[in-house]
Amino acid sequence: MNDQSNDLAPLLDAALRAQRQFRSRWDAVTPNPSMVLPEGTMRTVLDELAERLKENYPFFHPRYAGQMLKPPHPIAVAAYLTAMQINPNNHALDGGPATAKMELEAVRAIAAMFGYTDHLGHLTSSGTIANLEALWVARCIHPDRAVAFSRNAHYTHRRMCDLLQLRSVETDLTDPEALEQLLRQGTVGTLVVTIGTTGTGSVEPLHRIVPLARKYGVRLHADCAYGGFFTLLAQGPSPAVAPEPFLALRECDSIVIDPHKHGLQPYGCGCVLFRDPAVGAYYKHDSPYTYFTSAELHLGEISLECSRAGASAAALWATLRALPLLPDEGFGPILRRCREAALALHDEFVRSPRWEPFIEPDLDIVTYFPRPSEFTASRVSQLSERLFAGTMNSPDEPLYLALFSVDSAAIAARFPGFVQDQPVTRILRSVLMKPEHHSFVPQLFAILDKSLDSVQ
Ligand SMILES: *Cc1c(COP(=O)(O)O)cnc(C)c1O
Repeated sequence: MNDQSNDLAPLLDAALRAQRQFRSRWDAVTPNPSMVLPEGTMRTVLDELAERLKENYPFFHPRYAGQMLKPPHPIAVAAYLTAMQINPNNHALDGGPATAKMELEAVRAIAAMFGYTDHLGHLTSSGTIANLEALWVARCIHPDRAVAFSRNAHYTHRRMCDLLQLRSVETDLTDPEALEQLLRQGTVGTLVVTIGTTGTGSVEPLHRIVPLARKYGVRLHADCAYGGFFTLLAQGPSPAVAPEPFLALRECDSIVIDPHKHGLQPYGCGCVLFRDPAVGAYYKHDSPYTYFTSAELHLGEISLECSRAGASAAALWATLRALPLLPDEGFGPILRRCREAALALHDEFVRSPRWEPFIEPDLDIVTYFPRPSEFTASRVSQLSERLFAGTMNSPDEPLYLALFSVDSAAIAARFPGFVQDQPVTRILRSVLMKPEHHSFVPQLFAILDKSLDSVQ
């Protein structure tokens, strides 16, 4: 077997072997007849499942350059399966003693990546829940003050503010004067700054916001659900992203990162971190099932959620053991390839007279549109929609892109001659979050450019 192949089969064998060894430490258990299924039945159902799952786009392939989707790394799959057969619950120490320790270790590694010297944190089932938790702590600290974020913040922040009955305000985080004017009023308790917006991967200028937040006693929450791991590219002598906002993350009161986005994990893995471990006091509860020990809070006591998959922690822990969070080893080179792919594709749109980049990518998300002779919002939208559908349905050279709606005014501001004949323009968006995208960029652009001929 080629050792370079990342083949999952021997890893899965090892996962099954580990389970057999685990069980062999006790006397054998015969499954109750009510649980026993003929192998034929299970196989038939699994065949049906495989058939049903064909209704998916090829997220694993570089031809899939649409949304934030890709399969987990084989080490994560194998580790998840190994632990999931035991099915520990990281709610409580006795529900998952081994995986609770792994969770603490993995979370500590992530906190260290951000430069936190001290922290309280844990995994969650998603970025949304992790953000909810950070906003809930924010409300405990500033119960009567609003939460402010930019219009590019993830749509769930507004919803979570509603849930917490916190007032939310939209503000332009790129305009320091407007921001200072808002903060001076004293009505805002928390600012949410997005490091890698979901739409364009844009990094908000955290380093310029930190001093203002400090000056006015406002809490800072960094939503790095998407962009957090790019912190590794901000470190070292030759940063591959603008380093200042990432280096300011250590100044934030809370941080959210999604290992199920750029952390090579299966879904069900978000993470929330707090800079001040004392916020653990807000979680105090008196469930008869768990108890509060101030010396060392266990995971169930510092989470809004109760049951959580210990297997998620095992998968992340194993991934970080095999691929450390370092700039030049493990995760760094993977992210660097994605970043380079985005810059290379962006460059194609800059050079070609037939295409325009919408904005320069801060991370690995590229936004672009064709530039027709009739340079109007409606014509650009029409061509984008045709390219989206045409490439997806191409029998021999399929490509899976995403559509993205932007204010026509934002295009007009950057491209003189653009006619805003409708308020919103549909453009194209590609998340190049697989390192395999890097070598695929020339082919990707060639397919796009050829498709443009056929949709004109
Ligand atoms: C994806 C994302 C979220 C939501 O995270 P989920 O894991 O999908 O719940 C929040 N904020 C940002 C910036 C994101 O990219």
